[in-house]
Amino acid sequence: MAQLHDLLSTGNRSLKMYAKRLQKLDLYTFRDLLYHIPSRYEDFSLVSEIGKAQEGEIVTIKGQILEAKNEYTRSRKAIQKMIIADQTGSIALTWFNQPYIIKSVALNDSISVSGKVERFKNNLTMISPDYELASNNLIHTGRIIPIYPETAGVSSKWLRRQIALLLEEHQNMTDPLPETIKNEYGLLDLSFSLKEIHFPSSFDSVEKARHRLAFDEVFYMQLAGIERKKLWHSNKTARKLTISEKDLKAFVISLPFTLTDSQKQAVNDLTSDLSKEKPMNRLLQGDVGSGKTVIAAIGAYITAKNGLQSAIMAPTEILAKQHFATLDILLKPFEIKVGIVTSSEKMKKEDSYDVLVGTHALVSKSVVFKKLGFVVIDEQQRFGVSQRFILREKGVNPHVFTMTATPIPRTMMLTLYRELDASYLTHMPKGRKTIKTWLVSEEKRQNAYSWIEKQIQTTKSQVFIICPFIEISETMQTVKSAVKEFETLQEIFPKMKMGLLHGKLKAKEKDEALKNFRDKKYQILVATPVVEVGIDIPNATIIVIEGSERFGLAQLHQLRGRVGRGEKQSYCLLFSDAKNQKALSRLRAMENMQNGAELAEFDLTLRGPGDIFGTKQSGVRILKIASFSDFDLLQKAKNAAQSIEKTLDDFPELSKEVKSFVITPSSPD
Ligand code: ADP
Ligand code: MG
Repeated sequence: MAQLHDLLSTGNRSLKMYAKRLQKLDLYTFRDLLYHIPSRYEDFSLVSEIGKAQEGEIVTIKGQILEAKNEYTRSRKAIQKMIIADQTGSIALTWFNQPYIIKSVALNDSISVSGKVERFKNNLTMISPDYELASNNLIHTGRIIPIYPETAGVSSKWLRRQIALLLEEHQNMTDPLPETIKNEYGLLDLSFSLKEIHFPSSFDSVEKARHRLAFDEVFYMQLAGIERKKLWHSNKTARKLTISEKDLKAFVISLPFTLTDSQKQAVNDLTSDLSKEKPMNRLLQGDVGSGKTVIAAIGAYITAKNGLQSAIMAPTEILAKQHFATLDILLKPFEIKVGIVTSSEKMKKEDSYDVLVGTHALVSKSVVFKKLGFVVIDEQQRFGVSQRFILREKGVNPHVFTMTATPIPRTMMLTLYRELDASYLTHMPKGRKTIKTWLVSEEKRQNAYSWIEKQIQTTKSQVFIICPFIEISETMQTVKSAVKEFETLQEIFPKMKMGLLHGKLKAKEKDEALKNFRDKKYQILVATPVVEVGIDIPNATIIVIEGSERFGLAQLHQLRGRVGRGEKQSYCLLFSDAKNQKALSRLRAMENMQNGAELAEFDLTLRGPGDIFGTKQSGVRILKIASFSDFDLLQKAKNAAQSIEKTLDDFPELSKEVKSFVITPSSPD
């Protein structure tokens, strides 16, 4: 489908104008347009003679235009009136504020209209029906009509016309899917499926077409994953890193805690990968607070013992600084030099570190490694493909270790990240208690405040208070802002010392606020969600989240994960002025579910898979047609991919298609 190029570079001027608007729908190429799948259909397939049309029926009728005119109301609004007739009778049609309709037709034209038949003063009529000039190729009336996801200035009607044209131009596309696979899995032909998904001959046919296109989606992803894995390993030699039992033990014993069993398993996976000649590509998945950082520290320790450098990249400056502090404490006793680079903390040329922690500033040209052997990417979902790639390229085939708290279901792992080996932290460190979570009503706000005050006094706990915004917004006066709340709370807790942390502060001010909180100089930290990922202050045991309905479940879970990081009982208080049941039941789920994976699954049923990641997964095409919960489809695609993997080169079209799914470093983030 090479000719299905960029929409912006089309010669068609009107289409070019639309190209910008289409970007809002994530449509950039003609191919995207062809794969813009209807969200639903309208059934206009019942065709009736005018004389037989019944009041209340949704029908299509064809007739000749006897009359067509604009009438104007006293307020100068135009009403479009038409009368059309066939051999059996006539019917009046009315539209509002669309004078161009009258201009686009001529008397005696034959038109086809679809809509609901109504009765007005004993005459049959249709109000605002869909219409088009009659032809053998109806696309807006007289059949099952696709309704698309739309955006400002792009209607389903417009999309229908463009897609119909495209389908006509591409009636006989080569189908990259081998016949054997189509036969074995009972799949329709590609051109036919695309035609049927947009302009179906029956609803049954829609399902078959959707099945074929969904199969494609996961099948290509699976094959692309297999290809990426081959690519990763092809001709790449990494440095084999070894560590003596004794040295490893020395480090593990120096830790302020004993490793959990799943941490030990992850360390085994890690050391085994590091000792191979092939570069490691491993993902460590573990819920918020499960203790991923120390695994990265062990990797960095082994790397340093082998005389090589490590780079550890975190998504925010706050988190980078925290990692720097943690790693420095753990590694310094072993004479391992840890450094940091962020946008506000530049590295000097002459500086050289064994372990360099940083934000995406690590990727910048000025940061050079002499012998980078180990790359860690924390909260990997926050980084784009190219950032990860560039960091890796700063060494010669370094081992790569990524970490995430995002619970990615196994089926999704196999499809999206087939090239990754995975380790899971399935258990929390010993002694952790479940975080008591309450949805607190506004009437109980004062009680909640007195309870918090008492907790601070009796158990010396520290408290996060999270507000959705930094400053009061004009349009949303009722939503708490950190700056204002910081003032209000001074009066509510006159005896408490309080800090303020939000994204608009200078790096220095942020550091100070967080440092004072960490050093227990503040009992309360009022903050925006800048604290969301990674912040680790085990003495903080209460988190209050204002306007909690504004956050997704994954984000609430991340926020809540700021507490419960030690052995003390922790609490999460959710405030919300949401009235709607759906929002409330989402928040109630927080009361009952502690586990990120469980919450993600619940969110999946509420909102669909895109949101598991909070934001769209950078650089990875998330499924548009298939669903990760369709295990049967995923399994079939997996079998099919495995059956053809070795002979892929015998199918040039398929091979080409798969390559477009293999992410290359030049692909946009
Ligand atoms: P995350 O997986 O969210 O990145 P961290 O690595 O920040 O979690 O660890 C959370 C907290 O748990 C830290 O304070 C860390 O020191 C502590 N921790 C990690 N492993 C253990 C363990 N095995 N036993 C007790 N505490 C641990
Ligand atoms: Mg972390």
